[in-house]
Amino acid sequence: MSDTAASEPTQRFDPFGRLPAPLLVAGALLIGIILYVSYIVLTDRYLGNLQNRALVRATLYTGTISKVLQTYGMASALITQDRNLVSVLSGGPNEQTQLVLGALQTEINARNLHLYTSAGQLAATTAPNGLPDINHTAAPYFESSLGTDISIFATVAVSNSDQRFLFARRITQRGTILGVVVLELDLAPLQAEWATSQNQIFVTNADDLILLSSRAEWRYRLLSTFFEASFRPDTMRRLNLLPILQLGPTDVGQQVEIDGEIYLQIEQDLDFRGWKLTYLAPTIDATARVNAVLALEIMVLALVVAGIAYISSRRVAQHSLRVQRESEELRALNARLSSEIEERMRVQESLQAAEKSLEQSSKLAALGQMSTAISHELNQPLAAMKTYLAGARLLLRRNRGGEALASFQRIDDLITRMSTITRQLKSFAHKGEGEMAEVELGAVITSSLAMMSPQLSQGRVPVERVTPPYPVYVMGDTLRLEQILINLFRNALDAMSDAPDAAITVELFGGETLARIQVRDTGPGLSADPRELFEPFYTTKEAGEGVGLGLAISSGIAEELGGSLTARNSSQGGAIFELSLPRVKEGKAA
Ligand code: ADP
Repeated sequence: MSDTAASEPTQRFDPFGRLPAPLLVAGALLIGIILYVSYIVLTDRYLGNLQNRALVRATLYTGTISKVLQTYGMASALITQDRNLVSVLSGGPNEQTQLVLGALQTEINARNLHLYTSAGQLAATTAPNGLPDINHTAAPYFESSLGTDISIFATVAVSNSDQRFLFARRITQRGTILGVVVLELDLAPLQAEWATSQNQIFVTNADDLILLSSRAEWRYRLLSTFFEASFRPDTMRRLNLLPILQLGPTDVGQQVEIDGEIYLQIEQDLDFRGWKLTYLAPTIDATARVNAVLALEIMVLALVVAGIAYISSRRVAQHSLRVQRESEELRALNARLSSEIEERMRVQESLQAAEKSLEQSSKLAALGQMSTAISHELNQPLAAMKTYLAGARLLLRRNRGGEALASFQRIDDLITRMSTITRQLKSFAHKGEGEMAEVELGAVITSSLAMMSPQLSQGRVPVERVTPPYPVYVMGDTLRLEQILINLFRNALDAMSDAPDAAITVELFGGETLARIQVRDTGPGLSADPRELFEPFYTTKEAGEGVGLGLAISSGIAEELGGSLTARNSSQGGAIFELSLPRVKEGKAA
């Protein structure tokens, strides 16, 4: 038992152990594909949304700036129609001038308004200390504005960190140029509004210089798209090596990297002096959302995998439990079986011993029974002989020789009977010594009848002999088979001694497996239980006529040859004795 336990495989916890490898690989691949496709779809969706929103916003901002510039342009034109200003220029400056300019400045939201005479003399200004911080009359736009009837736009770099935007326009009265008004735009509120948004906005001029920006530190920086080498050398020179805002490349188109942050970039033309608006929407939110959904997806997938693992491990555990239980049951069964086998062997041994002792005792019993019967059978005639002998001696002494002779005759009869008994016992004792061979039963019947013919003809008993047209073979020895038949014929004759029409029928049957010989007579039939007839020394005959051993010996021979001898009464009267023996086909036994 112990080696069975040792040879059992050790149970490992391996939830996926029962799943085939290709299934595991396919599962991993499926998870990979799901995650990849989700990433693509989600990124596309969230960035698409972001881009749509950014485009709308950029267009909005572009519109706003254009409108502001347009409004300022129109305002500069309208100012020149202001009668107060015209009268100030035509009649010379007075106290009212400052007030009028101040009112106009507030109305049009200008940073500053300056009024010059055509000779370049400052007539009035809204500058805090009464003096503009830029020398406008020396600038080229002043000259240009005097020569045309439209508003001239200009940007002026006060310093690297201060750019001004302005419109200059001449004021005329009836064909006479009276002076020039300079309107400085105030774009600070616009930029302040931009700064409140998470998104970044800047406006660059044709030289890629950032003029306006939502982030103050980006203002007046030179925009470098990916490579500084893309700058035109003259631009570099003109811009006096301004600080640069570097837009770094990314793997995705339309996305740029500024100071480590990734933005979606939308560029729109302002249709104004080559100005461009750049709208930058940080992608971090969209990316974070994609990542959040992906994380959720991974969590769900992990839960599913864990669920499968759990179910699988439960199955494994149940299976191993079942296997364990089965092997325990098997072991118990095995133990029970071997103990049963041992028990059976013990019983068999004791049975054999019992059988042996039974055989021994039955042998002894049979021997005792037989000795009693034989000694009884022999003692009787011996006692009788002794009496007859004493009687004969007495008769001889009295000279009655004739009577004595009769006694001697009786003694002789008794000796004959005793010798019959011993002869039959001898033949019984010698049974089994005959040679076994294939014997044809028809021939045995013929020879037995031949041997019995003197007795048969003496009693004038007819014998009907019925045999099949083919030979019927059995294994046996002729002598002993003849002994059986002769015994049966003799018994039949004895039984029919008083019958008026005595007859014997002997019939041979060749069955498929059995050969049978029936001996029928027309006597009175069996007077006792047929089984009793076969007991040794059972006889109904007178003393000296039978010893009751014939049928016992005959049935013994039949059994020894593998067959049987039975007796019954015929329905038409008379007895039927039947000898059955296993049939053999000719030549088979050899
Ligand atoms: P025995 O012939 O010496 O008596 P058997 O063993 O041959 O011994 O026969 C036993 C008894 O069976 C006979 O005494 C007789 O009573 C009975 N028996 C045998 N054959 C016949 C028969 N053909 N008809 C009637 N009884 C028979």
